[in-house]
This record gives sequence, structure tokens and C-alpha cells, in this order.
Amino acid sequence: MIDFNKLIDQHIARASKPKKVGRYYPSEIGRCIRKTWYSYNHPHVVEPELLKIFEAGNLMHDFVADVLKSEKTPEVELLKVEMPLRFENAKFVVSGRIDDVILLKMEGKLVLVEVKSTKNVSFVKKANRAHVMQLQFYMRASGIYNGVILYIDKTNLQTKMFEIKFDEKNGNQIIKRFESLHKHLIEKKLPVAEAKKTEDMKWMCKFCEYKERCEENKK
Ligand code: SF4
Repeated sequence: MIDFNKLIDQHIARASKPKKVGRYYPSEIGRCIRKTWYSYNHPHVVEPELLKIFEAGNLMHDFVADVLKSEKTPEVELLKVEMPLRFENAKFVVSGRIDDVILLKMEGKLVLVEVKSTKNVSFVKKANRAHVMQLQFYMRASGIYNGVILYIDKTNLQTKMFEIKFDEKNGNQIIKRFESLHKHLIEKKLPVAEAKKTEDMKWMCKFCEYKERCEENKK
């Protein structure tokens, strides 16, 4: 008999490429800076179970894009999907893709939409700090200063949306975080164990694949 789980594994399998110092991603800047540093120096193979979770997230995003471009939702117009955005200076490049750019017809307003799937949307009380940073970066890089983070429940398609105001100071701080990450990588210096020392980031350590290494302050 066919093993369908195996077929899915085969279908979504992809070779993981090592990350290159000097090329960064908006999705990682809100994470613990030490963890991001480790991911450049000690890349982990992405487990098939995690790839499946990513794939489920992609499916949710496709669904949201279908809703936004549907003829049955005339109040919004989907202008772009997966729009590439890039920030570059003399030392490094940051590049990523914003999920959707929509036009709110009544208000004539362009809005960036970052979609995040979740297991239980009723537990989502506010936008995740890392997601907000990611969106702030996109707003800064695109010059579109209206943004929302849309959480969608994978089990029942319920959603929660958070409007994020562009904050120039915050946008600049994000660039500073990339600068700090870059400097630590170039100088081969281990950054501070940020999540351990920051109250609303402590939960990240529980899911961190580098926690033993971090505990020993090992490079
Ligand atoms: S264990 Fe916590 S502080 Fe250490 S790298 Fe992981 S997330 Fe950061």
C-alpha cells in the first residue's frame, strides 16, 4: 500500500543551503540575536516535521490570497503576492518577501499584509514582537506605511488582525540589529544571550535548538 506520509516527505523535501554572512532575512531579526548568530555558524538541517508545518503555513497563505483576490470580496484588491523587498548598504543585504499588498478600495489606501498561521487563534492576544519587527522592516523598505499582521487558525480559519503603525525609530533600530548581528558574525564574537535576558523573549529558549550550546556560552 502507498505510504502517503512518505510521499508528502518526498514532495516537500528540499536541500538546505548554508546561510551566507552578509545576507540576512527580515523574518529572523525579531528572534534572539544569539540564536540567529548560531544559525549562521552551526546550521541545523530542517526536520521533515518542521517542513510540514511550513508547508501548512504556505497553504494558509494561498487561501488568504484567494480570499483577497476573490470577485466576492470587492472591498479589497490584491495588488501583489510575495512582493520582494530589499535593503542594502555597504556591508550587507537584507532581503525578503511581504506576503500581500492590497488596496483598500473605500479608503484608497495601500496596505501590507503579513500572514501568520497559528494552531489556536484564541490564544493570540497581541501581535508577536518578531512579526511586528518583520513588518516594520517591510514598511521601511517599501515606503508603504500601512501594515497589518493577520493570524489565521489552521483548524477553523478564524482570524485576528493587528494594525501596525509605522515607527521610523523602530525601523532604524531594526537596521541597527542587523548591523550588530553582522558585526558579531564578522568578528566571530558570540552575541549576548538575548532571549534569556529579555522578559518577553524568554519563552523562545524553550524551543531553541541551540540551548545546550548557549548554556555553556560556547561559540
Ligand atoms: S537558548 Fe535562548 S538565549 Fe540561548 S540562543 Fe537560544 S533563544 Fe537565545
